[in-house]
Amino acid sequence: MKPDLVTLALSKGRIFEETLPLLKAAGIEVLEDPEKSRKLILPTNRADVQVVLVRASDVPTYVQYGGADLGVCGKDTLIEHQAEWGGAGGGLYQPLDLNIAKCRMSVAVRADFDYASAVRQGSRLTVATKYTAIAREFFSAKGVHVDLIKLYGSMELAPLTGLADAIVDLVSTGNTLKANHLVEVERIMDISSRLVVNQAALKLKRATIKPIIEAFATAAQPA
Ligand code: AMP
Repeated sequence: MKPDLVTLALSKGRIFEETLPLLKAAGIEVLEDPEKSRKLILPTNRADVQVVLVRASDVPTYVQYGGADLGVCGKDTLIEHQAEWGGAGGGLYQPLDLNIAKCRMSVAVRADFDYASAVRQGSRLTVATKYTAIAREFFSAKGVHVDLIKLYGSMELAPLTGLADAIVDLVSTGNTLKANHLVEVERIMDISSRLVVNQAALKLKRATIKPIIEAFATAAQPA
């Protein structure tokens, strides 16, 4: 951890794009476009701030271990990360909901699968998901017995191939579900992205980090 340099971990795509205006409000401009560059460390207009590009699910890990001082990641990613850490959160400080990259976590099934009857009859459901902690907690609270199958992507395929009865996945417009003849049968929770901060970094680099948090708080859209 270099004392004079603040590192922000972001994932490419929606989170990166929607964090740019918040960075701008903090006087920070990223000098390279991640879609055009293969660089994983992006300089900014400020010598004391850099951006690192990591997979969305690695953002909490980078921040927890101090590979990055700050990060932006979805509530889904944070819940799954914390479940791995026994709910301790691993020294991550979460000062702000940035209200970006909004979507919802939902249960979806094939259009011809009678989910309501299956639940009513107490059937055991096979559920495929990347979000096993969220799915386990949701179905357990509902009193539905499930066999969870962990997948890392293309969850929509699971009910179509007979791998699972249902999926738990992020839904934004609903177009992906529709294109694959799936229907949303439960909304588990609303999701948005949050700022996460390494607690030790906040103490050691407070003079640089605190104004960034404050600028993000002012610029973030209300819920
Ligand atoms: P949509 O077709 O707009 O409903 O988007 C659904 C697809 O995009 C699914 O494959 C989701 O996993 C993914 N997705 C939607 N919103 C987000 C988000 N905020 N963060 C990450 N993935 C998302």
